[in-house]
Amino acid sequence: LASRLPDVGTTIFTRMSALAQQHQAVNLGQGFPDFDCDPALIDAVDAAMRAGHNQYPMMSGVPALREAVAAKLQRLYGHAYDAGREITITAGATQAIFTALLAIVHPGDEVIVLEPCYDSYAPNIQLAGGRVRRVPLDPHSFRPDFARIRAALGERTRAIVINTPHNPSGTVWSDADMRALAALLEGTQVLVISDEVYEHMVFDGQLHQSAARYPALAARSLIVSSFGKTYHVTGWKVGYVAAPAALTAEFRKVHQYNVFTVNTPMQHGLARYLDDPRPYLDLPAFYQRKRDLFRAGLARTPLRLLPCEGTYFQCVDYSAVSELPEEAFCDWLTREIGVAAIPMAAFGGADRHERVVRFCFAKRDETLNKALELLARL
Ligand code: PMP
Ligand code: GLN
Repeated sequence: LASRLPDVGTTIFTRMSALAQQHQAVNLGQGFPDFDCDPALIDAVDAAMRAGHNQYPMMSGVPALREAVAAKLQRLYGHAYDAGREITITAGATQAIFTALLAIVHPGDEVIVLEPCYDSYAPNIQLAGGRVRRVPLDPHSFRPDFARIRAALGERTRAIVINTPHNPSGTVWSDADMRALAALLEGTQVLVISDEVYEHMVFDGQLHQSAARYPALAARSLIVSSFGKTYHVTGWKVGYVAAPAALTAEFRKVHQYNVFTVNTPMQHGLARYLDDPRPYLDLPAFYQRKRDLFRAGLARTPLRLLPCEGTYFQCVDYSAVSELPEEAFCDWLTREIGVAAIPMAAFGGADRHERVVRFCFAKRDETLNKALELLARL
């Protein structure tokens, strides 16, 4: 059979988690917490199941959850989305992004991705029949290079995928970045897929600059987020898309034949839980403390810290430790040191010659301390 994705193997996240398990290494590779969610969230889902919320919900998602999402977007970013026509609940951000691309990309269309970027974007664009237009972020700061984005825009550009806070680099787009993007797209038909799954993990008093804050961007954006990240439940796979009604209508045409809808009791539980803003408002301080603990320990190793303004990822340059290429270094680090990481190269940008790997610090303090103890041997 001719492969639809001939260049693709098993994802690096799966491979590194398996290797970590095989060598009983501390797994700071794949991004997921090693602690549990708030028991109140589990109680809310349990109550929903016992109350009989166990059959198909509406195709677009449980109304109470869509309303809670709309209320949050209004409160935080000042944009009033219509919960009925502009919010759709998805099976995590992964399905949201794929469905969005399937809905908007026609064969031969180009979609710009800013590399390094999350690994699903490019294969999703290919499967949608589009062409991936790869534009590098600045190789040192990992910030958007608007001159290069401008140069990549053309007649065939259907969309650009952006991601702030950024996986893997931890950079956060500024107000000036968002304004520059809005100005660049003015007068074009280019859509924006704005991957904001780490929206509630922005540190040092910075603000998350959602596309929803910028009317000119909101009008052309499908904004994607994920409860998995915000509420420490990556295995639940529930997220959402917020987009203007016309875009949402196209999104839902595909969504209804893709998953049709998303599991009911989780949606009811999340709806109840989302009414209280404290859990997501407390999240920056929660992760900033972990970031600081982890960075303080790493500063005592020969690994060079890169900035981390948001997300639960910390990147380091290991060139003082090893000459190995990134993936080989991650293998070595897992086997010989006992700590798993993810190579930056897995996020694309083949012309980079840096030696950078990503650690996930969404871990219990004892896990981070154990990893730091092992990394101290470098
Ligand atoms: N986008 C980014 C940038 C991510 O890091 C992730 C999670 N690794 C996803 C999308 C997918 O999120 P979900 O688990 O909700 O599908
Ligand atoms: N988003 C997670 C990460 O970047 C992993 C998701 C996955 O395993 N595909 O580590």
